[in-house]
Amino acid sequence: MNQQGHMASYGQPQSGYQGYQPFGYNSQHTAGVPTSQYGPYNGPVQGYQPTAVPQGPLRTASGAPPTSLPPSTAAQSTAYNQYGQGDVQNGPAMSDQLQRFPVSQPYMPGSHPMPYQQYAPLPNNTQQLPNQMAAMQISGSTSNAPPPPASQSYGPPTSHHQTTASFPLAGPASYTQYPTPLQNIPSSVPQSGNHPQHPFPGQPVPASTFTSPPTSTGLTGSTLLPPSGVPRPPVMHGPPLSGQPQAGLPPSQHPTGHYPPQLNHRPAGLQPGMPGVVSGPPAQGFQAHPSQPSQGLGPQQNGSFGQVRSPQPNFAAPYTGAPSYPSQPQPQQKRLDPDSIPSPQLNELPPQQKTRHRIDPDAIPSPIQVIEDDKSNRGTEPFSTGVRGQVPPLVTTDFVVKDQGNSSPRFIRCAAYNLPCTSDMAKQCQVPLTAVIKPLATLPADEAPPYIVDHGETGPIRCNRCKAYMCPYMQFIEGGRKFQCAFCSCVTEVLPHYFQHLDHTGKRMDCYDRPELSLGSYEFLATVDYCKNNKIPNPPAFIFMIDVSYNALKSGLVQLLCEELKTLLDYLPREGNAEESAIRVGFVTYNKVLHFYNVKSSLAQPQMMVVSDIADMFVPLLDGFLVNINESRAVINSLLEQIPEMFADTRETETVFGPVIQAGLEALKAAECAGKLFIFHSTLPLAEAPGKLKNRDDKKLINTDKEKVLFQPQTSFYNNLAKECVAQGCCVDLFLFPNQYVDVATLGLVTYQTGGSIYKYTFFQAQVDGDRFLNDLHRDVRKVIGFDAVMRVRTSTGIRATDFFGSFYMSNTTDVELAALDCDKAVTVEFKHDDKLSEDVGAQIQCALLYTSCSGQRRLRIHNLSLNCCTQLADLYRNCETDTLINYFVKLAYRGVLSNPTKTVRDNLINQSAQILACYRKNCASPSSAGQLILPECMKLLPVYLNCVLKSDVLQPGTEISTDDRAYIRQLVTSMDVAETNVFFYPRLLPVHKMDVDSDDFPVAIRCSEERLSKGGIYLLENGLNLFIWVGMNTQHDLIQSIFNVQSFGQIDSAMTALPMLDNPCSKKLRSMVDMIRAQRPRFMKLMIVKQDDKMELLFKHFLMEDKNVNGGASYVDFLCHMHKEIRQLLS
Ligand SMILES: [Zn+2]
Repeated sequence: MNQQGHMASYGQPQSGYQGYQPFGYNSQHTAGVPTSQYGPYNGPVQGYQPTAVPQGPLRTASGAPPTSLPPSTAAQSTAYNQYGQGDVQNGPAMSDQLQRFPVSQPYMPGSHPMPYQQYAPLPNNTQQLPNQMAAMQISGSTSNAPPPPASQSYGPPTSHHQTTASFPLAGPASYTQYPTPLQNIPSSVPQSGNHPQHPFPGQPVPASTFTSPPTSTGLTGSTLLPPSGVPRPPVMHGPPLSGQPQAGLPPSQHPTGHYPPQLNHRPAGLQPGMPGVVSGPPAQGFQAHPSQPSQGLGPQQNGSFGQVRSPQPNFAAPYTGAPSYPSQPQPQQKRLDPDSIPSPQLNELPPQQKTRHRIDPDAIPSPIQVIEDDKSNRGTEPFSTGVRGQVPPLVTTDFVVKDQGNSSPRFIRCAAYNLPCTSDMAKQCQVPLTAVIKPLATLPADEAPPYIVDHGETGPIRCNRCKAYMCPYMQFIEGGRKFQCAFCSCVTEVLPHYFQHLDHTGKRMDCYDRPELSLGSYEFLATVDYCKNNKIPNPPAFIFMIDVSYNALKSGLVQLLCEELKTLLDYLPREGNAEESAIRVGFVTYNKVLHFYNVKSSLAQPQMMVVSDIADMFVPLLDGFLVNINESRAVINSLLEQIPEMFADTRETETVFGPVIQAGLEALKAAECAGKLFIFHSTLPLAEAPGKLKNRDDKKLINTDKEKVLFQPQTSFYNNLAKECVAQGCCVDLFLFPNQYVDVATLGLVTYQTGGSIYKYTFFQAQVDGDRFLNDLHRDVRKVIGFDAVMRVRTSTGIRATDFFGSFYMSNTTDVELAALDCDKAVTVEFKHDDKLSEDVGAQIQCALLYTSCSGQRRLRIHNLSLNCCTQLADLYRNCETDTLINYFVKLAYRGVLSNPTKTVRDNLINQSAQILACYRKNCASPSSAGQLILPECMKLLPVYLNCVLKSDVLQPGTEISTDDRAYIRQLVTSMDVAETNVFFYPRLLPVHKMDVDSDDFPVAIRCSEERLSKGGIYLLENGLNLFIWVGMNTQHDLIQSIFNVQSFGQIDSAMTALPMLDNPCSKKLRSMVDMIRAQRPRFMKLMIVKQDDKMELLFKHFLMEDKNVNGGASYVDFLCHMHKEIRQLLS
C-alpha cells in the first residue's frame, strides 16, 4: 500500500480537538465580506463524466459569455444564498484571492455550452495538417474524407480520427556526416524535400536511396548558385502514401505565394495541393494573412516565402518509384528573403546561404505552424475542464479556463491524457506517463483562484484508508451516509455535519455549493493536527544576508541593494485584506565573519553584533533580530543607510557561505518559524569555515566520463545543511554576483533542495545590470509563496507516482518536502503502472499541498485531474502533449548528467524518443514504405524540440559556456513549468518590422533559423532568460530612426540596454512588446541589441535552434533524418 496518511508525521486530525480558531476563518467573519464575492460560485457541472448533463441550480442562467462580464447580481445573490445554506463551512476566506472574486468568477453553470458541444468532433480534419509539411498523410479511414471548412478545423483531442503526419525523410546518413558549413542555410537552395505521391495506393514502394541532383536552383540576382557540379546531399524521396487515394484537396487550400518551392519530383499528373504532396502553408491561421502584410502578418511567418512562386516549376519528373532520383535541372527560383520587406534582397545573401540542402525546411513540421494553428483553433473558446481526459490548448495559446471538476492546465499538465491500460502497453510505447504540477500557479485576473473550504474542527473530509481528500470523484452511496473513495475504493462513513441527501442521479444536493464536490482545485483550511508539533505556526520571516566583501562593494551591489530595500520592504506578501504583512524581517552582513543587527523599534540606532567564531554558528541575539517592518522602520532605514558606508573601505576579499545559511537557519529555529533567506553573494567561499570550497573548475572534463563531477557538489556539507533547512521550513534564495567561478553546483544545492530560487549576475555592475537585479528581487520578494510544505500525489488504483523532478527534498518515496514553494515552481511527476487500469473508470490524480501561508495559516491546496485510459495505443498517441513530454525529458536528462556522461544521456533521450515514434509507426500508422517518416500528429514537434534539448548548454556545451552557467541552467530548468521549458528550448523570434502598431497583438513569430532573417528586418528573440533585438544591416532608415533615434544602421549603439523613449507608434509598440514579454516571464530579461555581422551576433545565433550550431549540435533537418534512421532501425 503506497498510500499513507498525508501528514502522518504531523499527526492525524483528531475530531475531539476543541478551541482551534483558524485565524478568523470561521463563519462569523463572513459577515463583512460582500456577498457578491461568493455569488457567482455555483459549482461547475460534474462534467468529467462526459455524458453528464449539467444540473447546477443555475443551469438556466443567461447565456451571456461568461468571461466578458461579471455574472448578474441576481445570479450572484442566489448563488450565495445557496452557498451559505446548511452550514457555512465553505465560508469565505480572507485571502487576497478573494479580492478578485467579483471579476474573476466568470463561470455560471449553464451559461455557456458544454465543452463537448463546443469542440464537436469533425468528420475529418485535413487542415490540422500544416500543409507546409511535406506529404502529410492522413491515415486510415480519414484519408478519404474531404477537408472541413477552414472555420471548423478544430477537432477535439478525443477525435476518433487519427491524423498522422508523414514526412518523406529517408536520410541514409547520420546527422553528423554532412559536410555543410556551420552556418548552413538550408533555404537557399530549394531543390529537395520532394514528396511525390505514389500513384497506386497500397502498392509497395521501395525505400529510396538518394542521389545528388547535379543542378541546383540558382538565385536570381547577383548571387547565383552554381548551376551544377556541386554534389548535393541526397534528395529525399517522396512518401509513397500507400493506402491513400489521390483525391486532391481543393486548390483553395493552397494560397499562392505559399508554396514551398521544393517539389522537384512528383508523380506525373499530380496536382499541387494533393494530399501527400508538399503543399502550401496551412489553410488556416495563415491563409488570411498574405493580403494584410501591413498588419504585421506577412505571408511568410510560417516559413514560406514571400515571393509568389509557381508551385510547379520543377515538378516535371514523374515519380518513378526508383530507389534513386535522376538529377534534373531546375529553374532558378527566388528563394531567400522570407520577408516582404522591400528592397534589400537578392544581392545580400550571406555567402553561407549558398549552401545547398537536401530537405526543404518548409516541408518539415514547423513549431510556429503548430503554435499558430492551436491559437486560432483553441484560443477563442474557454477551456472547460469538465470532460475527462481532455487535452488542453498549448501553453503558447492564450485561453481562459473554466474549472468544471478537473484542475486547470495551469496547475497540472500531462504528457498523455489517455493512459495505456496495462504496463505492457506502456512499456511498448515508451511514452512516459507524466504530469507537470504547479500547485501555486498564478492565474490570470479573469480566472477564480481556488476557493477556501473549511470543514471545521474535524478538518478536511478524507478517505479513511488512503487519506485522499474529498473531491468530485468520490461516490456517495447509501443515501449519502457513506462515500466510496475514487482512489482506493474504500467506503468511509460521512460525518453527521457533512451529511447531505442525494438527488435522483445519486449526486449530493449540495454538490454545486461545495467546491470540493464540483471543482478540480480548491483549498482546505488545515487544523492544528496538520501543524508541526501540533502547534499553529508563527508567521514566516525573511532574512536578508548581504555579502559585504570587496567585490560586492566595488560592483555597487551593496549600495544598490540597501537603497532598494528601504522601499521594497513595503511590499512583503500579505494575507488577503491585511493592512500589513505578518512577515518579520532580519538583517545580516558578512565577509569572513558575520554581523547580526538588532533593529528593535525601541532603539535609536541599530546595533551590530559580530560573530567571528563561525565554526559553530549561533545567533547572538533573539530579541530585536526579527522585527515587524512598520514598527522598526526608522531603525531599519538607518541600518540600510549605514551598511554601505560601514564597509565602503573594506579590503576583505574572502567570504564564508555555509555559516551564513547556518546563521539564518538558527535564527528561524530560535524564532520557531519558517522563512526565507535572501543571500546576496559574490565569491567562492574560500575562507576557513564549514562549507569552505576550493576552485575545482575543469573544463577538460567535458565529454569525458568524469563530466558529471562538474554538476555534483564538491562536499556533502551542503546536503546535510539542506536537510536541516527543509526540516525547519527554511528556504534559501541565492543571488549570485560572480566575477569568476563560484561553484554554482555546490552553492546552489541548498537553494535547490529547499525550493528556493537562484539568480546569477555575472560581472555585475550596478549601472548596467541594476535594473535586472532589482526587478528580479522585487518579484522574488513579493511573489505568492507557501512555507514548510509537503506535497503528496495520490492516484487511483492501477498507477502510482514513482518519480519526482524539481527543487525539493525527499526523505521517503512519496512525500515531496519543500521548505517553501512559490508560484513559479513546478514539480514534474512520473507515474508507473502497478496494476491494470480500466477504460470505464479512467485514472484519477490528486495532488495535495500542505503549506503555511504568508500569514502563518496552515492550508491544503488540492488539485484533481481525471484521465482516460485506453486499450488501443492509437488513443494514447491521439491525446498527447509534446510540450509536457519535453519538460519531462529535459528534467530526466538534466538529472541524468549527475551520474552519467552527457553522451549517454543524449543517446538515451534519442533512443526513447525513437522508440515512441517507432511504436506509433508500427502499431498506429497505416502501412507504408519505411522510407517515409510518419509522426503522430500530437508529436510531430518531438524531433525539433528534442534536438533543442540535446543541443542545450547542459547536454552539449561549447567552449564559451562556463561550468557555473551550465550548473545554473540545470538548476533553473529543473523547476520550470511547461510554458517555460517550451520557450527556453525553442525561443520566440518575432519580426519587429511586421508589428501592427494599431493592434495589441504581437506579430506572428517565425522559425528560429538564420535563413528566416531578412537583412531588411528587425527581430526580437526571447527565451525567458535572454532578450535580443537583432537589426539587419539593410533595415530602412526611417524604421531605425523611429526605434533607435539614429539615422543609420552604423550609428546604432549596440551597448544600449533599453530602447530610447520616442514618441512615435513604432517605438511605443516595440517598447510595449518588450514590457509585455518581460511581464510574462518569471525573470527579468536584460535587453541586448545585436547588429548584423557584429561580434555579438554569434551569441544571438546560438539561439537559432533550427540551425546547426558551433558546438556540434545538428540542424533540425539533419536531426530529423537521424531520428528517421533510428526509427527505421527499430522497425527492421
Ligand atoms: Zn481512499
